[in-house]
Amino acid sequence: MTTTQFERLPDLTAAEPSAGTLVMKFGGTSVGDPQKIKDVARRLVAARGEGNRVVAVLSAMGDSTDDLVRLAHEVSPKPKPRELDMLISVGERISCALAAMAIHDLGAEAISLTGSQAGIVTDTVHGRAKIVDVRARRIHEALDQDRIVLVAGFQGVSTDLDITTLGRGGSDTTAVALAAALGAEVCEIYTDVEGVFTADPRLVPEARKLHAVSYEEMLELAASGAKVLALRSVEYARNHGVPIHVRSTFAEVEGTWVVREDDMLEQAIISGIASDTGEAKATILAVPDRPGVAARIFRPLADAGIHIDMIVQNVSAEGHTDISFTLPKADLPLAEPILERLAAEVEAGGFSCDEEIAKVTLVGAGMRSHPGVAAGVFESLAEAGINIEIISTSPIRISCVVRAAEMERAVQVLHEHFRLDEDVLLQGDAAAGA
Ligand code: ASP
Ligand code: MG
Repeated sequence: MTTTQFERLPDLTAAEPSAGTLVMKFGGTSVGDPQKIKDVARRLVAARGEGNRVVAVLSAMGDSTDDLVRLAHEVSPKPKPRELDMLISVGERISCALAAMAIHDLGAEAISLTGSQAGIVTDTVHGRAKIVDVRARRIHEALDQDRIVLVAGFQGVSTDLDITTLGRGGSDTTAVALAAALGAEVCEIYTDVEGVFTADPRLVPEARKLHAVSYEEMLELAASGAKVLALRSVEYARNHGVPIHVRSTFAEVEGTWVVREDDMLEQAIISGIASDTGEAKATILAVPDRPGVAARIFRPLADAGIHIDMIVQNVSAEGHTDISFTLPKADLPLAEPILERLAAEVEAGGFSCDEEIAKVTLVGAGMRSHPGVAAGVFESLAEAGINIEIISTSPIRISCVVRAAEMERAVQVLHEHFRLDEDVLLQGDAAAGA
C-alpha cells in the first residue's frame, strides 16, 4: 500500500497568497446541458489563457441531484445515509468529466478530480459533512503541470474513508475551502443571477444588485432564506478571509463582492430583504408557568436534530404561557410526535402546527448605528395591514413571521419604505457611528 504525504490546511488562516490562482465555481444551471458545459470549458480556457492557475468547482447538471435523491427513494423508503452520499455525489463527477473532455477539445490540458481525489477531508456526518482538512497536493501538482483542475463540488472523503456530501448547495463550500487552501485571491461563484440583490427580483421587480455585502450581512441573508450562496460557504469564507465574487455565468458583468466589512468602500443602512417559506410555526398551548418547562421542551427537540429558529413565550395573567417557535417544515413529521408527548408531559393544553407562515428578514450592518429601523419595519407593515406574529432580531437583522399569503406584499412594502431601489448610503456622522 502506498502512503501519501499531504499538506495540512492551517486552521483559520488562509494559505500564503499564490499569485494568479483562481477558483471558479459553476452552479447547476450553468452546466445544465452539453452546450453549457462547452461554454464553461471555453470560459475556463480563457481564464487560463490570461495567465491564471485555474481550479474549477462544478455542481451537478441542472436538477440532477434532485433526480438522484428521487431515484433513491423510489428504491428504498429510508436509504442509508452512506449509500445516499455514494449515489448523489455522482452528479458533480459527471459535470467535471464532461468539462474536462470539452477542455481537451479546445486544445488545453485538464484533469477532473472527485472531492476525495482533490484532498477534501470531512467529518463522518453523511448528508451534511463538514470539511476538516484540505490536502491540496494533487491539485498543486496538476496546476504545476499547466492543467486546468476540475473538482467535483459538494463532496469529500470522511476520516473513515467513506464518500460524504456537504449538504445541499455544498459546492459553494467546496469552492471557498479550495480558495482558502490554495491561497487564491478570490473565489468566483458563477450562477444564473447577476449577484446578490436587495430582494428576490421575482417578488420585487425594482430590486437592485448590490456592489458589495459584508460576510456578516451575507450570513444573515443566507440564514434567512437568500438562496444565492450556501450558508456554510459564507461562514468558511469569513473564517478564512476569502473574498467571494458572486457573478453571472451568462453575462460579462461585475457581480456582488462578499468581503470584510472593513474592506467595503461604502456601507448602506439596509443591504437587503430575504424571505423564506421553508419554516413552520409550532405552538405549545397553555403551558404551566414554572421553572424548567422550556428546557423540558427544547432539549428533546434538539436531541432529535431539529433546528429551532425563532422562539417566543408570553405569560398570561392566569399564569399560563403559550410557547411558539419556528422549525423547518421538513422536520415537522419528526417533531409532531415529540410535541404531542411533551405537551402531555408538561401538562400543557395541547399543541398546534401551522405551515402557512413565512419569514421576512431585513438585513443591514447600518442598523447598528442608525436607530429607528425596527420602528420603520413595524409601521410600514402596519400601514399595509400585515400582522406580525413573531419578531426576532440580531444587531444587524430584523425578522418577522407573517402569513405566507402576505409575504410578497410584506417584502414589497419594506423594499419601498427603506428605498432599497436607490443607493441610500450611510454618510458622514452616521457612517462614523455617531
Ligand atoms: N448538486 C448539489 C445540490 O444541488 C450541490 C450544489 O449544487 O452545490 O445541492
Ligand atoms: Mg445544485
